[in-house]
Parts: sequence; structure tokens; C-alpha cells
Amino acid sequence: MEPTSNPINSQHVAVIGAGAAGLITARELLREGHTVVVFEREKEVGGLWIYSPKTESDPLSLDPNRSIVHSSVYESLRTNVPRESMGVRDFPFLPRFDDISRDPRRYPRHREVLAYLQDFAREFEIEDMVRFKTEVVRVEPVDGKWSVQSKKSGDCSNDEIFDAVVVCSGHYTEPNVAHIPGINSWPGKQIHSHNYRVPGPFENEVVVVIGNFASGADISRDIAQVAKEVHIASRASESDTYKKLPVPHNNLWIHSEIDSAHEDGSIVFKNGKVVYADSIVYCTGYKYHFPFLETNGYMSIDENRIDPLYKHVFPPALAPGLSFIGLPAMGIQFVMFEIQSKWVAAVLAGRVKLPSQDKMVEDINSWYASLHALGLPKRYTHKLGKIQSEYLNWIAEECGCPLVEHWRNQQIVRGYERLVSQPETYRDEWDDNDLMEEAYEEFGRNKL
Ligand code: FAD
Repeated sequence: MEPTSNPINSQHVAVIGAGAAGLITARELLREGHTVVVFEREKEVGGLWIYSPKTESDPLSLDPNRSIVHSSVYESLRTNVPRESMGVRDFPFLPRFDDISRDPRRYPRHREVLAYLQDFAREFEIEDMVRFKTEVVRVEPVDGKWSVQSKKSGDCSNDEIFDAVVVCSGHYTEPNVAHIPGINSWPGKQIHSHNYRVPGPFENEVVVVIGNFASGADISRDIAQVAKEVHIASRASESDTYKKLPVPHNNLWIHSEIDSAHEDGSIVFKNGKVVYADSIVYCTGYKYHFPFLETNGYMSIDENRIDPLYKHVFPPALAPGLSFIGLPAMGIQFVMFEIQSKWVAAVLAGRVKLPSQDKMVEDINSWYASLHALGLPKRYTHKLGKIQSEYLNWIAEECGCPLVEHWRNQQIVRGYERLVSQPETYRDEWDDNDLMEEAYEEFGRNKL
């Protein structure tokens, strides 16, 4: 079932955000014949990938009155996914050798992703639909439609009515700060990775980095270039973990998680080791946060579970007028935005039907029950891990679009294995040339 040029039902849709999810969603909505307005707080497209040296006034981002800096990108960041599996399917993220400002590497620097998203917006003429410097401050259902209140910088707010709203506002801006017993009397500096940009401020310090996945692994190595010592606290490691890691400055250790912090500046790890630290960097993830959304108590967020959401996209009683793109974190991202937004666009057009509200709620409850049976806490609700392809293929079949390619899924799986086993080198040394060749063969075939 491909989109038709004569849609069954053309809707007037508001998209919140012009990051990767908003750009891709706007394109899919247009393809299905809807009219689209994209609201974007910043002055350009790209969302998270717009690097800013600016950080928030509160380094832990706990102060509700702080002015928000959207991006969490640090200066040295390179992608953690190979470019072949990152790009959308009919606009692959190919290396550009015709422009020296571009980074043709397989795992390029953050500016290259921004340039790709700018190319995407230009190619599909999305910018014409974007209202820049316009923040959505309130979204609520009104008589079967949606009221969207927005504020352009310097102006008073504006109220408009849309048939539907698609939330693409990102979820890497509201930090989750791990609680450490005794931290209130600990005298050192504390910062969340959202406010980390460059290692300079940590010169000659003893630094504890909490978290050892993508950002924690990067930031600890970045800081180790200038710091006296860096100690990683890893919740995923056994309680007796204590190991020196091979980095050029010979100053990086990995420990189990932190037990407590003390007034004398010490940090005690669960492995019994004690470190007198100057700074703690929390690489402990982010919280879902939709401050503009008013659903009269129908939707809630508890321990990072957004409830209720059918297949992480539609809140049953408010569907299809309200939907969310890009909530499951990690793994395949841009292609997930593509498949989810094709579904939303097709449902809004009436080309694809959603199940009854009761059936959607039943599906949500059985998802919660399966997490519970595995002993997984609520915060795992939108973490799909190994079943992400299965999830995306289910949606793809619903709306009649191509399934996730085998090579893409395998690149993600093998890429993450390398990230864990060789965090210093996984972006430059790999063992999946076969998958890379398969990807480029497919890009070549699609061009013909
Ligand atoms: P964002 O890019 O955050 O865009 C949301 C947009 O919404 C922003 O432009 C924001 O200004 C706007 N907005 C928010 N609220 C409002 C409002 N109220 N009104 C108007 N506008 C609003 N993914 C990968 O595929 N590969 C990687 O290598 C990778 N690396 C990452 C590294 C880091 C450090 C992080 C944090 C994430 C990484 N990701 C990576 C995941 C990344 O988040 C996604 O790839 C993707 O860019 C997210 O796009 P998005 O559009 O959902 O959100």
C-alpha cells in the first residue's frame, strides 16, 4: 500500500520540533497529502546535532527556572552508529568527497550529521514549512481537534487549531541525575553530560564519571587526556570490579557502582576503593519531558514510562490526533522515525486503521506484563534493544513499507558489541566489511 496523490483524508498537522524526527515526519506527512506546520524553538534545523558551546546555568540542570540549552552534543562527539545504518532509506548518509568541510569517515563527527540533516531538509523542501524561533508552549485537545499555543521570540503567544499534532521534540535535554547516598555534603563539582562540552575544565583533576555506555565511554576518555585520574563507576559491572584501562595517559580505571559520597571529598565504590575526587560527571541518561502537553491527566510519566502509548506512538484515547515519534532510544534511529511517521501519516489519512481503544490498551498492558515477567523496571518500557527490528517490521507491515534490512540490523548489533569490547577504537577498526558492502550495493541498486 503506497501513498496516493489523492489522499483519502488530508489533515492539517502540527509537528513539534525540526530535529531528525520532525524533518522526517514532515516529509512523510506531506507524501501522504497532509498540510504541515513544523514548530521549532531554534533558528535552524538539526535539533540535537546543532552543537553549542553554551551550557545551562545549573550544571546538573535541576533548576526548573534555568534557561534551556537543547543540545547535549560535546565537541569531540562522533556518531556511535555507522553512517550506512544511520541515514534514511531513500536518502542514505553517503560520504561526500566533493566538499572539504565534510567528514567522510564511517563514524563521522557531529557536524557531518547536522550537514546531512540540512541536506535532507533542502532536498525535500522542508524548511519552507518550519516556523523557526517558535516554541510550542501548550498543546491540548479541544472538541476533537488540537489547540497549539506557540510563542515566537519577542512576540505574544498565538493559538491555532490543528487536526493532529505529532510530537518530535526529542528526549535528550532533561537530565536524569543518579542519586548517591551522602552527595549533599560532598564538596566537589557536579555536572551532567548534558552540560559537558570539552575536557579543559577538568585539567589535573581527579574525576569520577558515572556511566559507561556511549556517552560515559566517550567522555571518560576525553577527560582522561587532561585530568590527573579518571574513575568510571559502572552499574552494569560486578560489585568487585576494579580495573585499569588501556589509555595513552595510563590514568583511567573502571569500578563497580558508587556506594557513597562524603564530606571529606571521598567517593566510596562498591568494590571498597576510595577516591578523593574533584568532580563527578553524570552520564546517567535523560528523562522524557513534554512540558507543553496538557491531556487532563490522561497521560503520565512515571519512572520514565510514558503511559499509555500504543506501540510507543499513539495514546489510545487521543489517537490518532496525538502521536509521538522517536521515543525508543538507541539502535536504529532515523529509520525508526521514518517507519513510525509513515504509520502516523497513513493512519491520519485513513489509509491504515488502528485497532479499537480497548485492543490498544490490551496490547500496552501485555507489553507491561512481559517487562514485569522479565523483572525489568518501568524505566525499560521504551528500551527495545534486540527486538527493535521486530517492532519496526511490525509497523512497516501495517503501513506497507519496506522492512528493516538485514545488514542494517546486523550493523547495529555488531557495532554495539564493538562499542562495549573496544570503546577506544570501535569507530576506526571494524570487522563487518561484508555488511558495509551489502549496504552500498543496496544504495547503488536503489539509485538505478
Ligand atoms: P532532537 O534532535 O532533539 O530534536 C528535537 C527538536 O525539537 C529540537 O530542534 C528542539 O529545539 C525542538 N523542540 C523541543 N521542544 C520544543 C518546543 N516546545 N517547541 C518547539 N520546538 C521544540 N543517534 C544516532 O542515530 N546515531 C548517533 O551516533 C547518535 N549519537 C547520539 C549522541 C548523543 C550524545 C545523544 C544524546 C544522542 C545520540 N543519538 C544518536 C540519538 C539522537 O538523539 C537521534 O539520532 C536524533 O538526532 C534525535 O532526533 P529528534 O528529532 O528526536 O530530537
